[in-house]
Amino acid sequence: MKIAVLPGDGIGPEVTAQAVKVLRALARDGLALEMEEAPIGGAGYDAAGDPLPEATLRLAQAADAVLLGAVGGPKYDTLARPLRPEQGLLRIRKELNLFANLRPARLYPELAEASTLRPEVVSGLDLMIVRELTGDLYFGEPRGIHLNAAGEREAYNTMRYAESEIRRVAHIGFQIAMKRGKKLCSVEKANVLETSELWREVVIEVAREYPEVALSHMYVDNAAMQLVRNPKQFDVILTGNIFGDILSDEASMLTGSIGMLGSASLDAASKGMYEPIHGSAPDIAGQDKANPLATILSAAMMLRYTFSHDEAANRIEAGVSKVLAKGLRTGDIVTPGCTLLGCAAMGDAVVAAL
Ligand code: NAD
Repeated sequence: MKIAVLPGDGIGPEVTAQAVKVLRALARDGLALEMEEAPIGGAGYDAAGDPLPEATLRLAQAADAVLLGAVGGPKYDTLARPLRPEQGLLRIRKELNLFANLRPARLYPELAEASTLRPEVVSGLDLMIVRELTGDLYFGEPRGIHLNAAGEREAYNTMRYAESEIRRVAHIGFQIAMKRGKKLCSVEKANVLETSELWREVVIEVAREYPEVALSHMYVDNAAMQLVRNPKQFDVILTGNIFGDILSDEASMLTGSIGMLGSASLDAASKGMYEPIHGSAPDIAGQDKANPLATILSAAMMLRYTFSHDEAANRIEAGVSKVLAKGLRTGDIVTPGCTLLGCAAMGDAVVAAL
């Protein structure tokens, strides 16, 4: 299992180092892992004048999976747009053809108080949003702003999906449902949009190949409501780019803590890039304060979804549960009566709990 490790900027290197520590501990127990690091984002610009240096891209292409920290920081905010750290991220996603974005929202019972919703609504929440990442309204042509016949400015975007694009992300959704609770809810707006009508038809076709998965359909407005009313009804939510963008942020807030959530972006062969959903947190960078659990849990996702190594993934997730059950916390999730740890000590605690 070849992993390209791209720590990035700010707290990226601190949190990535903890995930690498956990992976090394598994390697000592016999998991055949190879890891190599390269700079991306601001670090890429500093090293090679490019937020995605050629050597970094080659390493990522040659690897089976990529583990990424975070990119960006005030130091780079004045650079020309193509040189900005975020461009490195957008380019690597495109180069690796990562069209399926997986965002889990899992709430550990010990952290139920961190949510803005009542503990009984969210405690034990464990859902996965599978979002299409390279089509839909964000990429559809034609698009633009022009002067219309009446002489006023008019803007337009195109919601567009080819059935092959729907089919490949639907397969990923069903395959993930098979590894979880075998329930998939496809979210669209088929009562109003032709794009959604096609989406629903193709999802129903793909579902025939996964007879064990219970398929349901929901309109996006209802899904937004159900996510705060009764989020535990969901196992896997499959949806397009724009609806997924909005719903995945809503779902991540159910858990109340940005430092706990990982994510994955996959290609057709389940090669993936795994990263925490948070950014580079310049306000706490270099202070050993960051919560590394989102990155450690991203590494667990990598083992499960790219390497189909559920046992190792479960070990990491159980380790994180154990650490939380012991009352060990970083600053972002600490509550009275718990023990405050720094970033590195939290990584050590997970290794000890493995
Ligand atoms: P951010 O996620 O970096 O930080 C938001 C807040 O959450 C900050 O107060 C931060 O201290 C806190 N936080 C974030 N991660 C944490 C962790 N692991 N542990 C404890 N606290 C944590 O978002 P931002 O402040 O809007 O952006 C900062 C920089 O990160 C910007 O340059 C932005 O462009 C970049 N960014 C990168 C990514 C990415 O690499 N995928 C995503 C979002 C933002």
